[in-house]
Amino acid sequence: NDKTSELAASIRSIPDYPKPGIIFRDITTLLGNARAFRRAIDELVQPYAGMKIDKIAGMEARGFILGGAVAHQLSAGFVPIRKKGKLPHDTVRIAYSLEYGVDEMEMHRDAVQPGEKVILVDDLIATGGTAVGATQLLRQIGAEVVSACFVIDLPDLGGRKKLEELGVDVRTLVE
Ligand code: IMP
Repeated sequence: NDKTSELAASIRSIPDYPKPGIIFRDITTLLGNARAFRRAIDELVQPYAGMKIDKIAGMEARGFILGGAVAHQLSAGFVPIRKKGKLPHDTVRIAYSLEYGVDEMEMHRDAVQPGEKVILVDDLIATGGTAVGATQLLRQIGAEVVSACFVIDLPDLGGRKKLEELGVDVRTLVE
């Protein structure tokens, strides 16, 4: 529809970044466009209207920008999930797979209480490695991962399916 195509048009595609053959989907142009930014946040939040959500967990770094706005709209707290070594207090850590190799992500151990309802937010889901890792990290400390939402889905890379197989409800705005 028109709204979706307007959102899609606000996202810039950069060929051969970060390496030859990859098309990078750049949301800085969406963030810089007041209408598109508002629309993206409104659409991300809409499925959760009226739900009692305790926390939004955002993945470093674009998940912080989108997740902060979503948390504000839902009157929820915000929890940063970061690359290892960045958080100052006691953390839980998990290894997750990247397209080539593995890395580790962390969150503060006391950032979410057992049983709290959490929604994961990031700009894009590709292979799902990042979101699956974040889901496992949150579940490790007893959080209930109610849903995960992304502006962009790259369906050919299968991340959405992987998350759904873990029992997570997945919402995306554009493919
Ligand atoms: P995945 O772990 O393979 O699903 O990759 C998703 C993660 O990599 C997210 O944190 C994204 O921000 C980042 N990412 C991968 N490809 C792109 C892209 O084309 N544009 C923006 N972010 C990307």
